[in-house]
Amino acid sequence: MVGVSASLPSPFDLAVADLPIPDGGGSYRRAQLATWLYRRGARSYAEMTDLPEAWRTTLAQRYRLDPFDRVERFPSADGSVRYLLTLPDGQRTEAVYMPYDDRKTVCVSSMVGCPAGCAFCATGALGFGRNLTRGEIVAQLLAVAWGEGFAPREIRNVVLMGMGEALLNYDAAVGAVRTMIDPEALAMSPRRITLSTVGLPSRIRKLADEGLPLVLAVSLHAPDEETRRRIIPTAHAAPIAEIISSLHHWQATGGRRVTIEYTMLDGVNDSLQQARALAGLLVGLRAHVNLIPFNPWPQSGFRTSPRARIDAFEAVLERAAVSVSVRFSRGRDAGGACGQLSLRGAAGKATPEAGPRP
Ligand code: SF4
Repeated sequence: MVGVSASLPSPFDLAVADLPIPDGGGSYRRAQLATWLYRRGARSYAEMTDLPEAWRTTLAQRYRLDPFDRVERFPSADGSVRYLLTLPDGQRTEAVYMPYDDRKTVCVSSMVGCPAGCAFCATGALGFGRNLTRGEIVAQLLAVAWGEGFAPREIRNVVLMGMGEALLNYDAAVGAVRTMIDPEALAMSPRRITLSTVGLPSRIRKLADEGLPLVLAVSLHAPDEETRRRIIPTAHAAPIAEIISSLHHWQATGGRRVTIEYTMLDGVNDSLQQARALAGLLVGLRAHVNLIPFNPWPQSGFRTSPRARIDAFEAVLERAAVSVSVRFSRGRDAGGACGQLSLRGAAGKATPEAGPRP
């Protein structure tokens, strides 16, 4: 962007109620700007022809509309598209567009890389780069809408399941959700927004107390401490019992059914005994279990469980009256499936920009 500093904030960092308006302008002006940003998906202030020119000039000097220096698009054969997004400081993050018959879904990131370091996740192997701002999270939706050629409000579902642990970037992630559900911004139903976490009990309780009727997805991946700590190095800070207790709090405060994410790793967490233990953990909780066949990536050291074992694991849960399904990820061939996001460039090579884990 010629003449615009890379360090400027973006208007997407602000709630609609806080958007700057010119002297003497009222809520009408604010609504006009919000319409251009979120309803029409303007890509430049110059497009906003019904705004006074002096205001547009001021906005352009103070707020960078597109917070990404470079947007690269990697389509998958199944119709999903991975977006590789370069930020002004050179760091990179990713979003994934997943079109379904009746709805447009976008998976967004909350960080560059991730500090959780899950052993089966390519993002975890990158380490932690930095937190994204509220605007950088929201703008991923705009980048996808611009890239695919539809209005931002056509996005029906958002999953905060890309790079990063959203609850470790709490204010930005919750702020971004508030923009998504704001009737003057993206006007989404909170019930169509899923926030995924590796399981941070105190943050789950805090989120419950926000009263946002989101879908909460918890990456459990193992029913016992030993296995879980083997595949999620940070799990020692959050015992499984505390995570389950925080999910009961989530539901007691009006939260909806939770989703339990469980990546199926051959010979690691896929025994029938572990299936029975998982069912035992979920007694009394309204939960749906997603069994996710592991999506391979170079040097992961894991294999996905054989289909017969996944079916047997699922059957144990069904017999225990646990709601369960097997979920195959989209975008595998473009490096955009669950656990595969690794800043892979055009040559299919991982190019980590992130630094060491904190
Ligand atoms: S699975 Fe999620 S929490 Fe774990 S390393 Fe990957 S992005 Fe981070």
